[in-house]
Amino acid sequence: MKNNHNLTLTDVTTARRRIAPYIVETPVIRAHKLEPLFNGAEIYLKLENLQCTGSFKVRGVANKMLNLSPEELKRGVTAASSGNHAQAVSYVSSRLGVDACIVMPVNAPVSKVEGTRGYGAEVVLCGYTGEDRDQKCQELIRERGYSLVHSHMDPHVITGHGTVALEVYEQLRGCFDEIVFPCGAGSLTSGGALAMKLLDDTITVTAVEPAEVPRFTESCKAGQAVTVQMGQTIADGLRVSKAEVINYDLIAGNVDHLLTVDEDSIARAVKEVVTKAKIVAEPSACVGIAAALAGRIDTAVGRKIVFVISGGNIDPSMLADLVNR
Ligand SMILES: *Cc1c(COP(=O)(O)O)cnc(C)c1O
Repeated sequence: MKNNHNLTLTDVTTARRRIAPYIVETPVIRAHKLEPLFNGAEIYLKLENLQCTGSFKVRGVANKMLNLSPEELKRGVTAASSGNHAQAVSYVSSRLGVDACIVMPVNAPVSKVEGTRGYGAEVVLCGYTGEDRDQKCQELIRERGYSLVHSHMDPHVITGHGTVALEVYEQLRGCFDEIVFPCGAGSLTSGGALAMKLLDDTITVTAVEPAEVPRFTESCKAGQAVTVQMGQTIADGLRVSKAEVINYDLIAGNVDHLLTVDEDSIARAVKEVVTKAKIVAEPSACVGIAAALAGRIDTAVGRKIVFVISGGNIDPSMLADLVNR
């Protein structure tokens, strides 16, 4: 039986109104130049790489922080992240004039640490694993009274991310057959799939994760949220080994197709998106296109398919390597 954790379309429309001053409505474009790669489908891209901070993460973070009390905001926030969530929390905190301390791994890419500091937050480097970072966050919560802005287990984060689907639906006036979400910890997919199915349950919802870290594919097989071994993927935003229950329940209940994709297809997708569509997207954002390239998505003539390009924060050197492959 479907368990939407009592989340409704109103939660998503309310989130949209609340976060509007803090985000941009990103464009949906038709990517004519990508279409010859497939079998005649119309290919649309929702460009969250053009979102504030370069990824959709700011949506859920803004919705979460705008639901904290004035007292909580005054005390400040903390978050654990190695990448885009960190930058989003730093950005929203500075917009709201709130103190933020972000815990990042010792081996975080310099560009992401600098990006996070650049928006104004304090950054503490701590250990290598998610557990190391979570422990440090708990310490900050105890010592400084901070509130936690979790990257994916929070209903406000999930419904905030769900606004992506709401926007696409309005921008295309409901006129599309399928929407494809990149899936890591699953908060974008859970919010987006929930909103999509509540708006129109005839639209096919697809989620794509790297074959190297197939936490939701394995969870669906097991019928419960499981943890998989961490593989090697260039999609750094999707490097999450554990499926949490709330994300699993929403995905199991609202996603029609859950696909995995190989690393070569992800690398090729980044190259095709940059060179043909002229869009700078990070590997995590290209797993949907990668699945289509691998023949896993029905791209028959006449179908209209929306791919959520979830972010554009890629190191220039990696972009150069992928384009030159
Ligand atoms: C975080 C992130 C994802 C994955 O989102 P989840 O909610 O963790 O599944 C995908 N793409 C980009 C660019 C991200 O930053």
